Amino acid sequence: MKKTTLIVLLGLLVAGACNPMKNNPLLEEYNTPFKTPPFHLVKTEHFMPAIKEAMAQHQAEIDAIVNNQDEPTFENTVAAYDRAGDLLSRVSSVFSTLNSANTNEKLQALAREMTPLLTRHRNEIQLNPVLFEKIDKLYQQREELDLDAQQLRTLEKYYDDFVRGGAALSEEDKEELKEINTELSNLSLQFSQNLLAETKAFKLVVDNVEDLDGLPESNIAAAANLATQLGMEGKYVFTPDKPSWIPFLQYVHNRSLREELYKGYYMRGDNGNENDNKEIIGKLANLRLRRAKLLGFDTYADFVLVNNMAGTPEAVYSFLQRVWKPALKVAKEELAAMQKIANREGADFKLESWDWWYYAEKLRKEKYDLDEQEIKPYLKLENVRDGMFYVANKLYGLTFEKHTDIPVYDAEVETYEVLDKDGSHLAILYLDYPARAGKNAGAWCSGMRRYKKLPDGTEQLPLVTVTTNFPARVGDQPVLLSWDEAETLFHEFGHALHSFFSRGDYGRICGSIPRDMIELPSQIDEHWAIQPDVLKVYALHYETGEPMPQELINKLVNSGHFNQGFITVEFIAAALLDMEYHSATEEKEYDVNTFEKESLKKYGLIDEILPRYRSTYFSHIFSGGYAVGYYVYLWAEILDTDAFGAFVESGDIFNQEYAEKFRKYILAEGGLDEPMLQYVRFRGKEPTEIPLLRHRGLLK
Ligand SMILES: [Zn+2]
Repeated sequence: MKKTTLIVLLGLLVAGACNPMKNNPLLEEYNTPFKTPPFHLVKTEHFMPAIKEAMAQHQAEIDAIVNNQDEPTFENTVAAYDRAGDLLSRVSSVFSTLNSANTNEKLQALAREMTPLLTRHRNEIQLNPVLFEKIDKLYQQREELDLDAQQLRTLEKYYDDFVRGGAALSEEDKEELKEINTELSNLSLQFSQNLLAETKAFKLVVDNVEDLDGLPESNIAAAANLATQLGMEGKYVFTPDKPSWIPFLQYVHNRSLREELYKGYYMRGDNGNENDNKEIIGKLANLRLRRAKLLGFDTYADFVLVNNMAGTPEAVYSFLQRVWKPALKVAKEELAAMQKIANREGADFKLESWDWWYYAEKLRKEKYDLDEQEIKPYLKLENVRDGMFYVANKLYGLTFEKHTDIPVYDAEVETYEVLDKDGSHLAILYLDYPARAGKNAGAWCSGMRRYKKLPDGTEQLPLVTVTTNFPARVGDQPVLLSWDEAETLFHEFGHALHSFFSRGDYGRICGSIPRDMIELPSQIDEHWAIQPDVLKVYALHYETGEPMPQELINKLVNSGHFNQGFITVEFIAAALLDMEYHSATEEKEYDVNTFEKESLKKYGLIDEILPRYRSTYFSHIFSGGYAVGYYVYLWAEILDTDAFGAFVESGDIFNQEYAEKFRKYILAEGGLDEPMLQYVRFRGKEPTEIPLLRHRGLLK
């Protein structure tokens, strides 16, 4: 499970016809291989005129629907609405790709300028009374319209979108909603910019290499390299980015430095300076509640969950509790075992949160005899990539052809043409691996164009991006991944497979599955990464080319239960925090730190474990669009453990019958019917949480 990852939902993306405007490559037909965005020509100053032109075109398309004097029909209203906004999607997806993976102050300033314009634009369409009237009219007569299943579902989804967007509200309430929406999006943007500034601002500078005793050579070299880049030759610099702080906390013997770096990480956004996020959080929580109430819901959680598989806050709390209790018990056992090691080594202190990684690593060596450093030589970045391509080939017959002629925004970005089983073109894949200044933290899958059936019956095939924060290459040294990073790559690639395969007649439902199912395609892909038969293919030693020895494979597989109490508890703590902020029934004054502490104390969280994300850097819920959605990774794990069980039980992890059904019902057509029905069509039964508990070693 990748709690650090986000999938950025694709908008309605398609490169359609547009009025060419001179000298703006964003507004011209892309004259590039596979009509990919011309990054080599695009300049920051092209975006604002392109966005304005694209909004104007979108508005003209909407006006044409609204002003059509004919009786509304599915075709002249719903289908036309579904097709509208192509240029806007095209331009804004290029912008958001750059602004998330390779941003700078100019792009960030532009984002602040563009955000309110786009919000107002969307609001005006969403609250257009004539447009809603037409859709409402069709919705009321939907049984008599002789629609096929996809048309009916598209109409129902759009009707629901309009109602949730406030179209059925009074004029006065509509105005209030507009103001709330604008304020919400500005606050979210401010939250993420503060967080980026805080992450950049904190650096732990170490003068003497002796203070780094215990840390692997490669991490020391990276820290020395960073110091040189920052003009501090001879020193060692560590940052709150995971590839920097996690190895430090795992290995460095110097306890006070571990404490200093961990505090630098977990105090981000909570330092009482101009980038403090606490006030923003309180405002966001209250505004979201106000919005939910305006739309007829008791809480923001109710508003969000009604469209998910889970359905209600009660269902989410209940499922989290059923996993939390066994996990907390196991976490306390882990803590006791680590304290024992510390005592044995003569430590005269009680373990604190910044000690967990260090002693967990010792416990891992003792109990599982697995040293991360033993595994890394087998996880050369290119080998892991080839491993995920291999799995996609064995399951679905896909092949990947590397291209060097597709424009990219950074020389490190790799591009591939993805070919289907029959050799036909399926998609373009961009892989952007290294951490860099100007890239958001974490890993995500997004895109710059999605599958769409065009009015003339032809198909528009997708451009998909996978972005990670792996260690940057140092000189000509190979990039060796940790196991966690290798899994991350498989995870995001699972999302990419979903984007490659999604099919449907209308953009609104094509590939559109609820949040709590969206991590199924990604999380199931991680299961193949660790299968011994798959490891033997891709986990080859970077120097000798030898496959990972069976003994090491066994250790890796066994270590799957390692630290699962902690991992599950820190995850659920964050998921509960998300639920607590969004289950309020009344607006209130938030003292964020007190709220955070008390919210988790009542579930029995121990001091030695912090939630995986504290409030002030919980960007999933305060700027990443995952509010009331952090639980979904665990919910999806119910699905992925259960789904992968189908392959295992069949005796063939590449079982072609299940692969075909998974592709058809989940990846290609997942959005065309209710998610549980699609799941049962693939699996033959509904899932239970037992495989999840067993998978994590929480069921004794
Ligand atoms: Zn994901």
